[in-house]
Amino acid sequence: AIVIDLRAAGYSYGGSAGALSGIDLSLPAGSFHFLTGPSGAGKTTLLKLCYGELKPSEGQVALFGKDSRMLSRDGLALVRQRIGVVHQDCRFLDHLTLAENLALPLLVAGRDPARETESLSQLMSWVGLSHRATAYPPALSGGERQRAALARAVIMDPDVIIADEPTGNVDWEMSQRLLTLLGELNRLGKTVLLATHDLALIRAAKPLVQARVLRLADGRVQAAGTEL
Ligand code: ADP
Ligand code: ADP
Repeated sequence: AIVIDLRAAGYSYGGSAGALSGIDLSLPAGSFHFLTGPSGAGKTTLLKLCYGELKPSEGQVALFGKDSRMLSRDGLALVRQRIGVVHQDCRFLDHLTLAENLALPLLVAGRDPARETESLSQLMSWVGLSHRATAYPPALSGGERQRAALARAVIMDPDVIIADEPTGNVDWEMSQRLLTLLGELNRLGKTVLLATHDLALIRAAKPLVQARVLRLADGRVQAAGTEL
């Protein structure tokens, strides 16, 4: 099945130049795609189309078979529960502990985190942050923040994980670690879309995941292949 499907999709922030145009892209369930391209190429914009944060100004974007422009507020909220998003500059609430921050999506979805402490602690352990559960976000290192952001993105057990430069602020070893975690999620059947300008990271992924590389330039996807 195709989970995210763009047909001749484009987006313009207004003004003369469109940020993106004529994008055709289908992400099959369980696939792993890198999205690369120079700064300003439109990677973040494309990701936002893929999780419904932006609606296309031309063409169609279907999320789990539903036209993103036709989704109601509630419909979009349901779709968003199935897509976990990892941002480069992950925002946490600084007055809540890491564990409390991770429990927030559950609260927002009307679930009781107190009944899910087991899965919460498993998640913290998976990203190697069990010992930081009661820390406040300002005390976390860059690498810890990124792993926390990944944990928060998967807390609702989404089908798709969309990550925007998740390794932007961390060293090489931590980048590899994040990639390994994303590879594990992919092996569990989750669809992964990862934007990065770090070509070395994409090369390093080869033994870890079977990924395709999408290259964005001049507002269009230039190539979709397994090679760079
Ligand atoms: P990338 O993630 O590849 O760096 P972006 O999607 O962030 O690219 O940006 C694509 C283009 O759209 C750039 O020219 C950028 O300046 C422009 N852009 C991004 N966000 C906005 C915005 N909110 N308003 C106007 N222009 C924007
Ligand atoms: P990483 O390689 O994961 O980015 P660092 O070497 O930056 O880690 O940090 C190592 C340890 O120091 C971590 O446990 C981190 O939480 C802690 N630490 C880093 N910065 C601060 C800070 N400003 N206040 C308190 N603890 C910090």
